Amino acid sequence: MRFPSVVAAACLVALPALLAAQDADTPVPPSEPEAAKPAKKAPAKAKAAKKPPPPPAKQLFGAAKTPAPLAARAIGFYAKGCLAGAAALPIDGSAWQAMRLSRNRNWGHPELIALVEKLAVEAKRHDGWPGLLVGDLSQPRGGPMLTGHTSHQVGLDADIWFTPMPARRLTEKEREELSATSMLAPDIVSVNREVWTDAHLRLLKRAASYKQVERILVHPAIKKAVCEASSQDKDRAWLSKIRPIWGHYYHFHIRIACPKGNANCEGQPSVGGDDGCGAELKRWLALVKNPPKPGPPGPEKRPLTLDQLPADCRAVLAGTPPSKAAKQAKSAPKATAKKATVK
Ligand SMILES: [Zn+2]
Repeated sequence: MRFPSVVAAACLVALPALLAAQDADTPVPPSEPEAAKPAKKAPAKAKAAKKPPPPPAKQLFGAAKTPAPLAARAIGFYAKGCLAGAAALPIDGSAWQAMRLSRNRNWGHPELIALVEKLAVEAKRHDGWPGLLVGDLSQPRGGPMLTGHTSHQVGLDADIWFTPMPARRLTEKEREELSATSMLAPDIVSVNREVWTDAHLRLLKRAASYKQVERILVHPAIKKAVCEASSQDKDRAWLSKIRPIWGHYYHFHIRIACPKGNANCEGQPSVGGDDGCGAELKRWLALVKNPPKPGPPGPEKRPLTLDQLPADCRAVLAGTPPSKAAKQAKSAPKATAKKATVK
């Protein structure tokens, strides 16, 4: 891997171009050219050609408007899974406001919701942070999204704006249209001191101090500011959780560990003991200054299908316990498939 594997595994977004491509993600047309090709010889092939390819999982999960009424469970990996029994972050709290409400992505595992609320309240009380503007968490049933984000699929990821919350309740329209503030200086390898404050630092430090939080993803310039301000800190453990990555200068990304008892939740490698303020940061800053040139375009990446997600995600989409969903799928495959596409 070209970049530190831990970071790459953390975000699964290695290049700005890739990020941009994800943001511009559009639904894939239901029929692929392959399916339209005439299959003359093998009858088996002809049969396969008649069957349209399964719809991308992002279409199915993107269409689900409500959580699956099942016990709360993160299923699969951050970038390949789904979420049962999601809870909603209330759009207004004593110390937070949810943004971009039209996306319906203020859903998460109850442990994530509790953590975001706790961070909001404690940062307001102790850190001089006026409150959180909360960006995307997950869809009601998790899963891949029609636009943006490779991860955020299992309800354990949250994007928090670096823009402090204003001292009034934003209208729905403002929550759609308000732009976040970039923390970058024009040189793009340091923060803009007119907008970056000590309170930002305290907020990140608090978030990283929570045991469940495994990673916080920020732009390398922000990692640099954090390292510089913390050079005298004896406790370096929180620093190792703050990981540099492309993007992430309008918001930071909090990722929590698999909740206890969620057997099908797939964890990620530990960040290790390195505070990331040395060679790794240096490497990242050099990359920011001289980003690698994109190679020739490879074959188009096919979007994930339901079959590629953990089997229990079928039950999450159906909104029924796994055993029942499996039975239904066996006895009436057509009906299940139809239901899944229209939901
Ligand atoms: Zn994120």
